[in-house]
Amino acid sequence: MSLTKRKRATISPAVKIPKMRALKKVLSDTDPPPFQVLNQRGNGMGLVICDHASNRVPRALKGLGLQKHDLNRHIGWDIGTEDVGKRIGKELDMPIVLANYSRLVVDLNRAPHHSECIPEVSDKTIIIANNDLSKKAKEQRLREIFWPYQKQLEKQINRLLRKGRPFLLAVHSFTPELNDVKRPWHMSVLWNKQEKIAKRLIAEIRRRDPSLLVGSNEPYTLKDERFTGSTMYRHAEERDLPYVFVEFRQDLIDTKEKAAHWANVFLQALRPILDELTSLQAGPNSPRKK
Ligand SMILES: [Zn+2]
Repeated sequence: MSLTKRKRATISPAVKIPKMRALKKVLSDTDPPPFQVLNQRGNGMGLVICDHASNRVPRALKGLGLQKHDLNRHIGWDIGTEDVGKRIGKELDMPIVLANYSRLVVDLNRAPHHSECIPEVSDKTIIIANNDLSKKAKEQRLREIFWPYQKQLEKQINRLLRKGRPFLLAVHSFTPELNDVKRPWHMSVLWNKQEKIAKRLIAEIRRRDPSLLVGSNEPYTLKDERFTGSTMYRHAEERDLPYVFVEFRQDLIDTKEKAAHWANVFLQALRPILDELTSLQAGPNSPRKK
């Protein structure tokens, strides 16, 4: 999918919808479940997580009142991450959890009561169906989509914990330009507390190809308050599990072929780090007690 620059109206008047009240149900029988898990029986000691893999909107929410091209833009999802996540999970033989709904329905990578969890505006586009949403309607999206997704991550992690100390990999992507500012990095690694793994990985990617620009807590930083309580806080840091949060630039991974290429570039640098984590686990004092 190409990210052509175009002048966009702030409001997308595609569908006139009444102010969203709590529906009987957000997800109907014809909607898929909130997530899908691939390679469930993978033997790798980790989990690949794609919070923003999909731009789907439950039928009852009528496209959130947005035009299709808005949902197809970076505001609707992390373009390319489904392909990259699948590739990495397959190569590492790890289960892959993919979100099935757009971050504009409910952002799975935010704390549930953060203002960006059900955003009213995203990159200057008003998300019509999210404005003046009642508390009940918000709770409903959390109950039907957000919490089942978080519980599924917990379930997968608990299953892995029976075998050792799992590694979590969060796969995201960023738009190549925001607010007229170019974002030059090929990929970026984000962290909050786990600076060591992040810096080691960045160094390894650059060592293998010094021409690559690898962001370090750019263009976002997990130290930002907006990420407090987000996926890696909740599932990795609170449980003291090793993790990597990677972001790829969207124009580099917007076809299956390109996604496969960049997944491989990343994997080559990640593998020695995973080997180190595994050998630490296999040491005399392991598995590490929480
Ligand atoms: Zn994302």
